[in-house]
Amino acid sequence: EAAPEPAPSPAARSDREHLLRSWSSYADAPPAVIAGGEGAHFWDEQGRRWLDFSSQLVNLNVGHQHPRLVAAIRAQAETLCTLAPYHANAATSEAARLIADVAPPGLNRVFFTNGGAEAVENAIRMARLHTGRHKVLTAYRSYHGATAGAIAASGDPRRWPSEPGPPGIVRFWGPYAYRSAFHAADAAQECERALAHLADTIAAEGPQGIAAILLETVVGANGVLVPPDGYLQGVRALCDAHGIAMIADEVMVGFGRCGQWFAIDHWGVVPDLITFAKGVNAGYVPLGGVILSEAIAERYAHRAYPGGLTYSGHPLACAAAVACIGIYRDEGLIERARVLGETVIAPELERLRLRHPSVGDVRGLGAFWGLELVRNPVNREPLVPFNASGAEAAPMAEFAAACKQRGLWPFVVANRLHIAPPLVIAEQDLREGLAIVDAALDVADRYCV
Ligand code: PLP
Repeated sequence: EAAPEPAPSPAARSDREHLLRSWSSYADAPPAVIAGGEGAHFWDEQGRRWLDFSSQLVNLNVGHQHPRLVAAIRAQAETLCTLAPYHANAATSEAARLIADVAPPGLNRVFFTNGGAEAVENAIRMARLHTGRHKVLTAYRSYHGATAGAIAASGDPRRWPSEPGPPGIVRFWGPYAYRSAFHAADAAQECERALAHLADTIAAEGPQGIAAILLETVVGANGVLVPPDGYLQGVRALCDAHGIAMIADEVMVGFGRCGQWFAIDHWGVVPDLITFAKGVNAGYVPLGGVILSEAIAERYAHRAYPGGLTYSGHPLACAAAVACIGIYRDEGLIERARVLGETVIAPELERLRLRHPSVGDVRGLGAFWGLELVRNPVNREPLVPFNASGAEAAPMAEFAAACKQRGLWPFVVANRLHIAPPLVIAEQDLREGLAIVDAALDVADRYCV
């Protein structure tokens, strides 16, 4: 006979009775109450322990409870916890200096927000004011946040319940060689056709009305889509030709995730605006922001920027950013993301692709990878249909459960496993996690024809 379920803890009971969490219903499947974490591991009240292959929401680049980061937050808390943004303070100005220092050349000024969505809202505002135009082009395969403008700018189905959104958003298809919208035969053709489609979209919308092209440098939640070489250069050229601002959304991939400070550094392209959040301080205290080109920032030399937030440049969050950037530098974590990707993750995932019929595609950059799971590797039918939920999504839920049961916390989206471990993960742990993925894929293989 099964042992009776233990009574829920006070934390579990309060959660169930009073909390509404992101993207969730509250009455079904309450989550485990997490009690602590260290490095790439975390554990719940019952002592169940997981290796984190998702860095929470792809933010925890330095792992849980990094002593230097905790100490910096504690020291700032003892000095000055909070401050209105019209004052200057050492933590905020030092964070801005360090961010400008690692940003692409010419991007030299930082506007701070509390997270990614607000960064996107402000970048759109800046692009509109700079160009005097209104329209913003964004990709169908994108996520930019959940506030009014950012969710409208997002392409993925999370936008649907918030529609109709504000006017002025126009969507296009970006490159995605595995499921090409352009019936391209290879990455080079995909690049060429995606750029031609973008140029056509600009022409049809009227370039004189387009303020910005907003895109994730490497598409995150919508598939870990690494653009083919030449695509971002092509977008930059189209923006230059038509006086359009290029906004690189680096909220998920900035600050080392892809093995460079910013993912766009891989292609040497300099956008006009960069949005960041997550990795800037590993999410220890909420922080995001926009990095502005000199040309866009200039407008506000003697005229007030018409936007702001009570907590813009929050000292605790910025002290955490200062420490986190120091950790990236001193521990060589940006380089480590690249090396782990090239020497461990890429070869191991390729092995999984060859071994498991359910693995249709493997792609990624640095410490950011995706496995696309299919029912049929020949016709590429996804393991679960687009926007599946409930019973339709069961194969992916079973796969995720198989990972969790074996002690791995996976990041499962649609028919994909995204792999984004903390950059501090021990190589041995990384290999063990990949071995768990290997074992769990047997569950997915059972659905293959
Ligand atoms: N932009 C991108 C690329 C993201 O991945 C996210 C969040 O995952 C956001 C924006 C929104 O960030 P936030 O959830 O901090 O508002």
